[in-house]
Amino acid sequence: MTKGVFEGQVGSPRPTISYGQGIYLFDADGRRYIDACSGAISANLGHGLEEIARAGYEQAIRVAFTYRSQFRNAPAEDLAQTLISLAPKGFGRVLFVNSGSEATEAALRMALQYWQARGLGSKSRFLSRKVSYHGMTFGALGVSGHFYRRYGYQDILWSSPQVEASYCYRCPFGQAPEHCHLECAQDLERAILAEGPENIAAFVAEPIVGAAGAALVPKPQYFSRIREICDRYDVLLIIDEVLTGLGRTGNWYAISDFSVSPDLLLVGKGLGAGYSPMGAVLISEKIAENLETSSNGSRIFGHTYGGNPQSAAIAMAVLQFIVTHGLIAQIRRLGSLFGSLLRDMAERHPIIGDVRGIGLLWGIELVADRDTRTPFDGSLRMADRLTDTAFATGLLVYPSRGQLSHLFGDAVLLAPPFIATEQNLYEIVNQLDFSFSQLERDMEAGSRRIF
Ligand code: PLP
Repeated sequence: MTKGVFEGQVGSPRPTISYGQGIYLFDADGRRYIDACSGAISANLGHGLEEIARAGYEQAIRVAFTYRSQFRNAPAEDLAQTLISLAPKGFGRVLFVNSGSEATEAALRMALQYWQARGLGSKSRFLSRKVSYHGMTFGALGVSGHFYRRYGYQDILWSSPQVEASYCYRCPFGQAPEHCHLECAQDLERAILAEGPENIAAFVAEPIVGAAGAALVPKPQYFSRIREICDRYDVLLIIDEVLTGLGRTGNWYAISDFSVSPDLLLVGKGLGAGYSPMGAVLISEKIAENLETSSNGSRIFGHTYGGNPQSAAIAMAVLQFIVTHGLIAQIRRLGSLFGSLLRDMAERHPIIGDVRGIGLLWGIELVADRDTRTPFDGSLRMADRLTDTAFATGLLVYPSRGQLSHLFGDAVLLAPPFIATEQNLYEIVNQLDFSFSQLERDMEAGSRRIF
């Protein structure tokens, strides 16, 4: 065995990266790749930006690390205020962590502590949705409705998420979009009553489902109904914007499009934009005040590197870059173009069942039969095959598997960096079109070999 980095089972052997520039990556053999998914929907500004690197360098030579129980630091203070100023109303504090999973964990613990401090310690369970993802640590995976990633750990995880997904292409209530009465939002009430409101601490949801569902966008009224139900039963609302937050959907926070203010709001990925690992929990004034004044307020939430000056300076430079280059408006504009190019492309490929998304976050669901929406047999690993085929042509897309079970459900996510131009989007769709054709040819050749 060659000794080195543990890779798990990442599939096909991968090349070694050399450098990145804009939306492109170059491997050690000089091959070029278009990063059409910003890595893992994280490198939101693309690669090799000098101003972001410089912000990290300048902070590092001044002071890279101080521990939060010993010093406050100005970059983290500025960043907290900026994140709050861009968020829906009602937030008062920010806890910095180093990843999306840590943000979820911290929010779950805050919710528990909030109810304990209010003398309602029986409110100790969480509700979340099927077809969702909130992280790989045990608490975060426990609230995740990601069949594929839960598989093998079911016995030690919290029981599976119970609330139906807002998955219009495969409506769990069998409704056509024009007959929708937000049954999926109402399902939260059913779940709360089944468990007993006195036992439920919080409901956790992504505004647009990312990795698990490949860009599931709910109806415009969905989250206001969810907020009403949470308020009626005294259940906190935790909105996970680790993937959608800070621009991806054409707004600073995707939940702002639904005119809803959550109690806890999570960001990650795009906060450091690939230049530094970083996540954060935005805490509403109501919860912050409770946690800061209650007798058990000194309990521990943080992790060693949380809110270090260097990462905070980098994240500030990321937000500054988005503002200076007017990227939020640009994402909205480019998003509609991208969506229509993808939909046109879908016409040419019968294995595409659905194209959905918003801003620069789009999902393509693959099906064996478009009319009946029958998924592919899981053993065909279609999402992986499409990802590998695209990779071989020099295009990076992000596979999303297991929307229907740990075996069934294939989709890919497209999430180019915010700096992409119109021409880049044409280039991405052309190359994806070519990859679909290539995959279809391979499937045809494969089936001829079998029969
Ligand atoms: N929440 C959401 C919505 C995510 O998409 C992810 C990662 O994909 C996470 C949480 C976990 O983030 P991380 O991988 O940084 O721990």
